Amino acid sequence: MANETANFDRKAVWGQVIAKIHPQVDRGHLLTIFIHSAILSYEKGVLVIGFASIIGPDYVREKYHGKIFPLIKELLPDLESIEYEMKSSLIDAEHPDKIPVESFMSLIGTPRKQRKVPGKSEVMLEGGMRSKLFNKEYTLQNFIPGSENRLVHAACMAVGAKPAGIYNPLYIYGGVGLGKTHLLQATGQEILKNYPGKKVVYMTAEHFINKIVEAIGRKHTKPFKDEYRNLDCLIVDDIQFFANKATSEQEFFHTFNDLYDNGKQIILSADRPPRELEGFDDRLKSRFGMGMLIEVCKPSFETRLAILKAKCGEFEVMLDPEVLEFIAFNLTHSVREMIGVLKTAIGEAQLENSTPTIRTVAQVIRKFSRDQDVGTIDLKDQNKTVVRGLEDVVDIVAKYFTLTKSDLVGLDRKKEVMVPRQISMYLIREILNQSFESIGECFGGRNHTTVMHACNKVENQMKIDQKLQRDINALKKELGF
Ligand code: ADP
Ligand code: MG
Repeated sequence: MANETANFDRKAVWGQVIAKIHPQVDRGHLLTIFIHSAILSYEKGVLVIGFASIIGPDYVREKYHGKIFPLIKELLPDLESIEYEMKSSLIDAEHPDKIPVESFMSLIGTPRKQRKVPGKSEVMLEGGMRSKLFNKEYTLQNFIPGSENRLVHAACMAVGAKPAGIYNPLYIYGGVGLGKTHLLQATGQEILKNYPGKKVVYMTAEHFINKIVEAIGRKHTKPFKDEYRNLDCLIVDDIQFFANKATSEQEFFHTFNDLYDNGKQIILSADRPPRELEGFDDRLKSRFGMGMLIEVCKPSFETRLAILKAKCGEFEVMLDPEVLEFIAFNLTHSVREMIGVLKTAIGEAQLENSTPTIRTVAQVIRKFSRDQDVGTIDLKDQNKTVVRGLEDVVDIVAKYFTLTKSDLVGLDRKKEVMVPRQISMYLIREILNQSFESIGECFGGRNHTTVMHACNKVENQMKIDQKLQRDINALKKELGF
């Protein structure tokens, strides 16, 4: 019983196990837990199974160990025990040991309840209590998760398929324009689609506050209380706005508790995790953390491009791939802003009976950056401010890694210099939104593809390398971002 790892195909074994147990596994758990799992090792009779999800190991050990163990024992007679571990790198879509759990999903088909439901529009009309604020354009099907937001998307799917399960409350946080409202709205509508009788309400925190203030003004808060405490699912967007609004926060706290204690689903979003919410009661903060906390992350270049392509499909326009790439390269911070640029460029071109080109898109980007006062996106004629900013980044990165500026812009290919050089290029791109050409020029006339490669490399590496993530965060802070 030496090291048996080499003697079997891990993927095949885990695949056979999932193939056998999937009909008994809750669809939501397949989508969130099993989708990012794999056999990690097998040594001396001990098999280790990894999960990207934090709750995965405990959950599977508790619920499925009794089923999994005999199945694997049949395949590996020497098996003595199984360990369940968390392994965050399993979130990576390209992980070699993962099996395509999605393929089992198609075998399962749609949840039973959903099959009974007739057409979509009928569901929307016949549904229980629905907020007028639901926007039909936001669905879980048209949200492109990419590898960055797979987990949050899967959690929303799980809640949509089975509300008030283990993801309660579901708390989604992250920067502006990254899809929080889209996911909240889509999840609410998915619940209504699967369970047309349920009472689901979506509202923003501001709306909730206004309603309370109104009810207090009328000195008649009971109807308000009854209305909200009778729901099956309450969705509140941007809850950071409850900060320092004691009465509203208090009322929300009671509503939250009543719903939660009665096994009802709560979905929340905010611009930051609960522990960082300021002006909030600690009891409420700790309650927010009782279910699932997930961050929406900035999408990678590939995901941004996929979103743009999907949007073009929706708008029924064909754009030159280079134009789409140009938009995806230049707008890295907010999907909302990126889609805004695409829409404006298409709209302006249509007025002239043409289609957007790199030149017209660059003009739209410049206009957007002026309106929103973000950075200095100047794609044609770089002015002095930009160049100074660019050199500042090189200077600060050089100091951080105790190198000189000429080390960074020079030709040395030692790792100690190459990595900081790539980091500088990445930061200039991220923070100053400079074109690859101009970054290349600043680094001794390097080709734009070298810069593009460096930026992509850092972006990908950051997902798995925590030290690099910390270095970049520290540098961004030093640079005032
Ligand atoms: P937030 O609430 O986080 O500020 P939104 O949900 O309003 O962001 O998203 C902004 C816009 O970007 C919306 O039009 C949304 O549909 C779109 N969007 C964001 N992320 C994605 C994605 N991954 N796939 C498709 N559309 C997206
Ligand atoms: Mg929003």
